[in-house]
Amino acid sequence: MSLGLQDRRDVSFLVRDVLKVDRLFETAQFEGQSWETFEMIMDSALKQAEALLPTNVDGDREGLKFEAGAVTTPESFKAAYKSFCEGGWIGLTEPEDLGGFNLPKSLAVLPQSALIGANVAFYILPGLGHGAADLIAHAGTKQQIKRYVPKLLSGEWGGTMCLTEASAGSDVGALRATAKQQPDGTWHITGTKIFISWGEHDLSQNIVYPVLARVEGDPAGTRGISLFLVNKYQLDEKGRLGARNGVVCTGIEHKMGIHASPTCTLAFGEDAPAVGELIGEQRKGLAAMFKMMNTARIAVGLQALGVAEAAYRYAHQYALDRVQGVAPKDMRDPQAKSCAIIKHPDVRRMLMDMRGYVEGVRALLSYASLQQDLVAAGQEPERNEAMAGLLTPLCKGYASEVCYQAVSDSILVLGGHGYLSDHPLEQNLRDMVIARLYEGTTGIQALDLVARKLGLAKGASLKDLLGRMSETIAEAKAEGLAELAGVMEKTRDSLGLVAMKLGEGFAKGDVDGVFLQATPMLMLTGDAVLSWLHLMMAVAAKRVEKRAVFHDNKIATAQHFIINAAGRIGGRVKAMLANDKAAMEMKFEGEDEV
Ligand SMILES: Cc1cc2nc3c(=O)[nH]c(=O)nc-3n(C[C@H](O)[C@H](O)[C@H](O)COP(=O)(O)OP(=O)(O)OC[C@H]3O[C@@H](n4cnc5c(N)ncnc54)[C@H](O)[C@@H]3O)c2cc1C
Repeated sequence: MSLGLQDRRDVSFLVRDVLKVDRLFETAQFEGQSWETFEMIMDSALKQAEALLPTNVDGDREGLKFEAGAVTTPESFKAAYKSFCEGGWIGLTEPEDLGGFNLPKSLAVLPQSALIGANVAFYILPGLGHGAADLIAHAGTKQQIKRYVPKLLSGEWGGTMCLTEASAGSDVGALRATAKQQPDGTWHITGTKIFISWGEHDLSQNIVYPVLARVEGDPAGTRGISLFLVNKYQLDEKGRLGARNGVVCTGIEHKMGIHASPTCTLAFGEDAPAVGELIGEQRKGLAAMFKMMNTARIAVGLQALGVAEAAYRYAHQYALDRVQGVAPKDMRDPQAKSCAIIKHPDVRRMLMDMRGYVEGVRALLSYASLQQDLVAAGQEPERNEAMAGLLTPLCKGYASEVCYQAVSDSILVLGGHGYLSDHPLEQNLRDMVIARLYEGTTGIQALDLVARKLGLAKGASLKDLLGRMSETIAEAKAEGLAELAGVMEKTRDSLGLVAMKLGEGFAKGDVDGVFLQATPMLMLTGDAVLSWLHLMMAVAAKRVEKRAVFHDNKIATAQHFIINAAGRIGGRVKAMLANDKAAMEMKFEGEDEV
């Protein structure tokens, strides 16, 4: 038996029985979508993912070649990219008139996470193509949309996002790249961007660089940033590719994981002008780029989920096959046969932890995306937009942390064998680390949650979240899940309490105290939200008339997650309320000199 990359049954249960995504099919925005279409897409995504899987190993072991400004990808990537583009995967959620499928995002995240789980390094390229297309569709002129979006969605042109510079990492506002308008209306961009994923490669005909830069004379900081589109090849007035533009890849990084994803240093306007065009309004570049960054943050959550689910399922399979030791019930029997390691309580505990994270993060990503779908369908747009915003740092920051933990535990399930490259898990772990770092580290996501999202509109979206939790608690009580509902009530109250204390800290001007608690708060909020979503899944499982083992397993997973999360949350609340400042009072050796 092979468990494959994704739990198809859990996917269907989530979107059909729990989130009831078919309510979108009745809206004008998603007219024509149906469960038949979705199941067809899932079938073919899983086939595509299985076909992609061998390229994951090639990419890791063969890696990339860099010579004279050109990057050569592993041989197997060429056919994989062609087949991926022909499958139409890049434009899954984009409008049909631009070459997409207009699939609701809450559904699209499911095939996408299976594809990402098959080969993260590869998937970053189509992910960036989609993100750039989405950005242009929202911020571009009609002509820019027509020129760029269909080509990015078909994969003929690759996408990138160019923010980071040597002195502008987390602090994007510190960037030094400049832009100068030319008499013909075009712009010349000058500067060096580092760490640009898929900034150079041999898979697409052209590469589009959305670049953040400052027009000479515009204010310092984030207020003075504009967004430009630069192409690898210059475009004529009909959008046809011409001579090379003045953007050159001067090197690629050698790194811990995602070996097949080129991480490029790009020099703009060094030996020849890098000709670009403004997109959106001057000085409004960061707001436009945020569109792409938010899409990318969800995509990083999907990356974390895809890899964690593949790792969980591999470990689950191994635990069925590996025979070692005697089951506790037979410990006193000298004649007892050795058992499969899945019979050992500690292995079961690890598998349950992983399963709780995987199924919970899947629900989080689909639920957060559903809020965006509801906005697109015109249903309570302000409220649902705010909820999507509140959940985004969890989709990126919390999800990448707990999925990393899940992959790390998957190695433990295999014991010493998990450490070997005979199994995919050590690569999974190396590939997973980046999810905690790029698109804003976990610490930056935590600051977004604490300093912006929780307090927005006088805490209205937090109140909304607590209210949504209360609704599920009431439903759980009505379905005979009173004990779990009681634990969830305490979790909800803990979240409300620490959020209030952090708000009071801000009001008193204790910024250090609040920021010290930002990451614990991110993790506590994530645990609370996942507990709530697990409870929602348990309620839906209870309501199914023809119950199967699958439904009992959903309730068991919810029980394990909610009870263990309550333990973590209780500890965090105690530590957070202590408002300990030792980390600030500490005199680290050498800090007086910096
Ligand atoms: C493989 C890879 C691919 C990447 N791809 C891209 C890409 O395609 N496009 C792109 O533009 N960038 C890309 N990046 C860049 C990535 O987004 C940054 O590395 C990341 O945002 C962190 O910036 P930094 O590395 O300069 O770290 P720093 O900003 O120097 O941060 C170092 C540490 O300080 C903390 N820190 C910094 N500021 C604060 C603060 N105000 N409050 C609290 N803590 C803080 C951080 O959390 C972190 O722990 C990529 C990076 C890598 C490694």
